Amino acid sequence: MVSTAPFKTAKSQEIFTAAQSLMPGGVSSPVRAFKSVGGQPIVFDRVKGAYIWDVDGNQYIDYVGTWGPAICGHAHPEVLAALSAALEKGTSFGAPCYLENVLAEMVIQAVPSIEMVRFVNSGTEACMAVLRLMRAYTQRNKVIKFSGCYHGHADMFLVQAGSGVATLGLPDSPGVPKAATSDTLTAPYNDLEAVKALFAQNPGEIAGVILEPVVGNSGFITPDGGFLEGLREITREHDALLVFDEVMTGFRISYGGAQAKFNVTPDLTTLGKVIGGGLPVGAYGGRRDIMEMIAPAGPVYQAGTLSGNPLAMTAGIKTLELLQRPGTYDELDRLTGNLIEGLLQAARDAGHEVCGGHISAMFGMFFHPGPITQFEDAKQSDLDKFSRFHRGMLERGVYLAPSQYEAGFTSLAHTDGDIDATIAAARDVFATL
Ligand SMILES: *Cc1c(COP(=O)(O)O)cnc(C)c1O
Repeated sequence: MVSTAPFKTAKSQEIFTAAQSLMPGGVSSPVRAFKSVGGQPIVFDRVKGAYIWDVDGNQYIDYVGTWGPAICGHAHPEVLAALSAALEKGTSFGAPCYLENVLAEMVIQAVPSIEMVRFVNSGTEACMAVLRLMRAYTQRNKVIKFSGCYHGHADMFLVQAGSGVATLGLPDSPGVPKAATSDTLTAPYNDLEAVKALFAQNPGEIAGVILEPVVGNSGFITPDGGFLEGLREITREHDALLVFDEVMTGFRISYGGAQAKFNVTPDLTTLGKVIGGGLPVGAYGGRRDIMEMIAPAGPVYQAGTLSGNPLAMTAGIKTLELLQRPGTYDELDRLTGNLIEGLLQAARDAGHEVCGGHISAMFGMFFHPGPITQFEDAKQSDLDKFSRFHRGMLERGVYLAPSQYEAGFTSLAHTDGDIDATIAAARDVFATL
């Protein structure tokens, strides 16, 4: 359903103007600003199912889903009910809580690489911790990442870090000392030869390879056939670890994440977003012999006051329960396939060169003829056209991520009617670009 009321932004503008003198850039996370698409961000009032309402009363069909967590739809009644019940027992224990066992068991059952798991509060935290663990386990310092992959905002990962950084046009970040990134090696995504070359140039020094197994932070980019398998082989050959950052793809492109979908098992995995069902949760896990190095079982220190708190665990558990119901991922795949096929067709009918795709509930479209296999390709897209497309869709009641370099997300709450309305809105907008 697309709202037909006229698009108004007076209240959003007033609130955002005030926010800019209170918080840097007026936001709590830079990707929320509309820097790359122009105009001001809209200020939300409430969310439900597939929809958002802003403070001016505009309604939107949402394809951001709070950047990934809302895969069952916003404010799902069963998640809310479970949270209300959990609230009565308190919000944080700072002590063991049975719900941690429940979610841990669910994660271990779902994700092929995970035999043991540690809960943290964000994807950034999970990635920081996993890097420390990679280095401790292998007793090597260097790590390979891919340009355009984002692994949170920790110093050592702020090299060629994809969407948020790329959107703002910052090469890296001031305040990150050279020493912090001197052991971070980068390769182009989907380029096994580049990875082999780095291993050859740094013999015995590389702890491992970390990547988004399906990229969402340079726009939506899929691994070429054999890429993930090749990385598995190369890392094994060099006694290095393979780490899948599944903060975005975990429980989204299949219940077991990309590793289940592509049948390649890494040594370690990071999770976030969906696993918290909209509350702050991250996790990392993997082989038991590696995970047992984490304190207090082992010497690698990592801690968190609010980690594993009962509210966050409850939202995660209920969200995963909803996802376990039969047919959920088939339905997400069908719906999202219809959406992206419809968008691409509408764009081509209007004479625009586009490419795109989807896996389950994750999709993307570039204003570029394609193919796009790495971030360097993504950067050749028509960003100006994307900005105008984004604005046009916003004015017609469709909320897309405000950057060409972000993936889109659907949910179980989206209906065929929402998809049709979105494609119809896009048809209108493509005609004006
Ligand atoms: C979002 C994201 C992160 C960071 O997670 P936060 O919870 O925002 O700290 C890390 N890796 C990937 C692949 C992500 O998409």
